[in-house]
Amino acid sequence: MTKNKLRVVPLGGLGEIGKNMMAFEYEDDIMIVDTGIMFPENDMLGIDYIIPDFQYLLDKKENVRGIVITHGHEDHTGAIKHVLDEIHAPIYATKLTRGLLEVKLSRSGQLEKTQLNTVQAGDTIKLGQFTVEFCHVSHSIPDGVALGITTPAGFVVHTGDYKLDHTPVDNWPTDYAMLGEWAGRGVMALFADSTNADKPGWTPSERVIDPAFDQVFSEAEGRILVATFASLISRLQQVGNAAQKANRKMAFVGYSMRENAKMARKLGYLNLPDDLIVPIDQALKMKDNEIVLMCTGSQGEPSSIMGRLSAGTNRQFSLKKSDTVVLSSHPIPGNEEMVFRTINNLFERGAKVIYEPISSVHVSGHASQEEMKFMLNLIKPQYLIPIHGELRHLHQHAALAKEVGIPSERIAVIENGQAIEFEDGKLNLAERVPGGYVFVDGSSVGDIGKSVMRERETLSKDGFILINLFHNGKSNELVRDPEIITRGFVHLKDSEELLENARDQIYDVVRNSNGNLKSKMEGRLKNFFYDQTRRRPMIFVVVNKV
Ligand SMILES: [Zn+2]
Ligand SMILES: [Zn+2]
Repeated sequence: MTKNKLRVVPLGGLGEIGKNMMAFEYEDDIMIVDTGIMFPENDMLGIDYIIPDFQYLLDKKENVRGIVITHGHEDHTGAIKHVLDEIHAPIYATKLTRGLLEVKLSRSGQLEKTQLNTVQAGDTIKLGQFTVEFCHVSHSIPDGVALGITTPAGFVVHTGDYKLDHTPVDNWPTDYAMLGEWAGRGVMALFADSTNADKPGWTPSERVIDPAFDQVFSEAEGRILVATFASLISRLQQVGNAAQKANRKMAFVGYSMRENAKMARKLGYLNLPDDLIVPIDQALKMKDNEIVLMCTGSQGEPSSIMGRLSAGTNRQFSLKKSDTVVLSSHPIPGNEEMVFRTINNLFERGAKVIYEPISSVHVSGHASQEEMKFMLNLIKPQYLIPIHGELRHLHQHAALAKEVGIPSERIAVIENGQAIEFEDGKLNLAERVPGGYVFVDGSSVGDIGKSVMRERETLSKDGFILINLFHNGKSNELVRDPEIITRGFVHLKDSEELLENARDQIYDVVRNSNGNLKSKMEGRLKNFFYDQTRRRPMIFVVVNKV
């Protein structure tokens, strides 16, 4: 325990886009801000998603006074069930965010045992020695908040995700007056969203995409499928508005899309009349030009509806040549290749595909450079800690801060796991804690370590070789010629010589081995194949005792 110091430990979201999570610690009190996931990159084979490594908190989990969630996006909420598996602390969130968390927790069977508390912009709560205030910020989902956290070591502000949209879809702009009031108290440190730090200017209002949607809807002759994140509630509203104007009915496809929409409508954050919404099986029976299907999969995730449609593996329905597909989102850095491959596949299946550079069917939910400078000038923090972004975004945010007059020694560009401490109003770097990736693959968490990832990489690059041996232990002889099966390694016909030489190696190992045939064989063949081909296929030797 460090006395009189505010410790801040970024566990995710600093140095990457996604899996946002941060711990604030003062003496024996800890509060967590956000518990997000990140989508896997292309080369993370078979991984469903990635959660923050929060083992730092496990030793002191009884100190965690609360988990505050800034808004309902996956990169802030998606890891909640994994965190609650380990840490039993009450959750604080605004009404919509809470509703979306409920959808998640009821799916994971944790709803009953979780203490969920609803807060609203303007509220104040106490978590141990922390006093947390909530300020409304506009974003691409309603009910997002920034946090003003009063600690015995000073007052800090965490922006969450925000943009300064004067005409947001929910008509609720960022609360500048409250931010100004916070600034008046003197802000020791600002933790601010950096996602768009390399985008000049001001992010356009969400409203600008309405005309683009109207045009797509007026031109489409068949079905319209719109893909976006299931938590991009504002976008669901905009698609619903366009559908009404075009006399189309709207159906939500997939569990998270359906349940999130249901929850947001129930709570009044999604204003769609009952007669607009039809269940998917009914929609599929209607005329093509009468429906809009809202799907997940704007990032090309293979398990999503759009991923399956593009691969031709969706069970309930397939793509039609007359379909118009709208990808209403921007590829998250790292996902570009997967998104473009999905777009290519959709075209190949005959659909008309509309995506961001072609038509403005998406606008960012994050502040651009001028808004970030506005925030800095408004809050006037002693220190800036750029958050939410890859290293290039964090550094760019730092450069903007220098432009508005914050000296570089009061800007801390840090990555996940680098703890910082504030004492007597001064920031110091503290120790590094784990802050890496925890892979989630289907239902298994964390078992998919680096070695499994390496195996998958090997298989995908160099293939494998299976050697089937029939070995008589008494005479130490092979009773049959070894069977050699390869996949993804060499073309058998062109490699007769290589495999003949491999057979010689196999007989040689048998002759000179006395026990432990399998591992000796694997070791020898690994070296042999590498010497011969400079590749490292995965090698399995099966020894059948006869
Ligand atoms: Zn967000
Ligand atoms: Zn975010």
